[in-house]
Amino acid sequence: MKKSFVFVLILAIVEMAMAGVLSGKLIVLDPGHGGIDDGAIGPTGLKEKTINLELALSLCKILQTQGASVLLTRRTDETVSLSARIALANEKHAALFVCIHHNSIQNAPEVDRPQVYYWSATDTSKRAARFILDSLERFFTVKGNLLRNDFKVLKLAEVPAVLVEMSFISSPKREKWLRDPFNIWREALALDDGILRYFDHLK
Ligand SMILES: [Zn+2]
Repeated sequence: MKKSFVFVLILAIVEMAMAGVLSGKLIVLDPGHGGIDDGAIGPTGLKEKTINLELALSLCKILQTQGASVLLTRRTDETVSLSARIALANEKHAALFVCIHHNSIQNAPEVDRPQVYYWSATDTSKRAARFILDSLERFFTVKGNLLRNDFKVLKLAEVPAVLVEMSFISSPKREKWLRDPFNIWREALALDDGILRYFDHLK
């Protein structure tokens, strides 16, 4: 990606954040897996649960700086049930519930793209998913998928909810890329951009 293009993207983020788009918004971030559940594992052993947590913690810092209140379903490598994750989002009436994952596919090392899932019959979750996917596609100049799926975390959420598969940890190239903490910040910024755009359009 061209440096000037990155600069334009970051300026847009700053502009929306300064406009107070996120002030008073409670966002629940859910780093997938953790504890006894590793999630997917990359070709050389990088665990999805680790990357999901790093990404959620980075995104949390960015969102808080921009005025949002943020809760995480886990802040360490611990086992958290799906129902506990959903309960946090529902009980706190989150303005947005974002489940963070990295995908994996067997015997297809070349597959690597973002996928954003929604379920809700109302179109709020779908719109959030669309904004987030658009941002991921723009940041990483890649075509992704917007998908409807009845994942338990989405189906039982009573608030706008999306599940984001950021990229495929099963791709050797991507796994190497994810080992660089700077790239986790890149993923966090891309997610932040989508979240800002979603709340900006609700104004
Ligand atoms: Zn996962």
